[in-house]
Amino acid sequence: MQENGTLYVCATPIGNLGDITLRVIETLKQVDFIAAEDTRHSRKLLNYYHINTPLISYHQHNEKFRTNEVMKRLKAGENCALISDAGMPGISDPGQVLINTCLAENIKIDVLPGPNAAVTALVLSGMPTESFIYLGFLPSASGERKKILSNISELPYTSIFYEAPHRIIRTLEDIQEVLGDRLTVVARELTKVHQSIHKGLTGELLDEFRMTAPKGECCILIGPYIQKKETGQPMDWLEEIKKLELEGKESKEAMKIVAKKRGISKRDIYKAKLES
Ligand code: SAM
Repeated sequence: MQENGTLYVCATPIGNLGDITLRVIETLKQVDFIAAEDTRHSRKLLNYYHINTPLISYHQHNEKFRTNEVMKRLKAGENCALISDAGMPGISDPGQVLINTCLAENIKIDVLPGPNAAVTALVLSGMPTESFIYLGFLPSASGERKKILSNISELPYTSIFYEAPHRIIRTLEDIQEVLGDRLTVVARELTKVHQSIHKGLTGELLDEFRMTAPKGECCILIGPYIQKKETGQPMDWLEEIKKLELEGKESKEAMKIVAKKRGISKRDIYKAKLES
């Protein structure tokens, strides 16, 4: 019986043509055909690496139709590499339909990791990396955009979006309106000659971009929501300390607990004690 082929999902550069792995180059050379989002665009990358493998188009508008065709060829034993215009296929790019169909029909898939704009922007931005949320492109209608922003407004994670340069100002305006002035980064032209990171409060970036509109490809990152602590009044602090002491806590320990909980210094608490 004919053995099925494999689908190789290959990440390609997001700007700098040097950002491609040896395994991706080898795979692109060895497969029977490459399904590419835009064959004309990918041809430049393939020519650069002297790859002559036949190409077929696989994009948003022919994804379902092409999936059937690719599946037939995979079942006939051919190997296929899937690439998009930049970065990882399936991440704000076509790929999901083919990948899910292969999974459903037990066709082997391998993912060859490599560049991705969101992760590159996150690491370069200096924003917290412990936990982050990626939301792709925000909807173009302002109402829907604001709804999504409002859903993430109190998330304690860095949020990452993709955005077209001509929409950056409008999106930053919505961010400022819904989330207030938050630590924001616009990461432009990553891995390219004019790569730049713009970091500041949302309003500061708006001032900058209203003077000089951003150009090129951009990612927007918003800092995590930081809950402001209720410091309360000195009387409240002392009452809380008394309660903790009655529960058996040492006076010093009680002061430390209240200072931490209220986001105040131990010196402020000593002062309040002396003045009481
Ligand atoms: N699949 C890609 C990935 O893995 O990152 C994303 C493709 S999505 C259609 C394209 C968007 O990604 C751009 O509009 C921009 O927001 C972001 N992007 C891609 N390359 C970039 C770069 N070099 N610098 C900044 N953002 C980039």
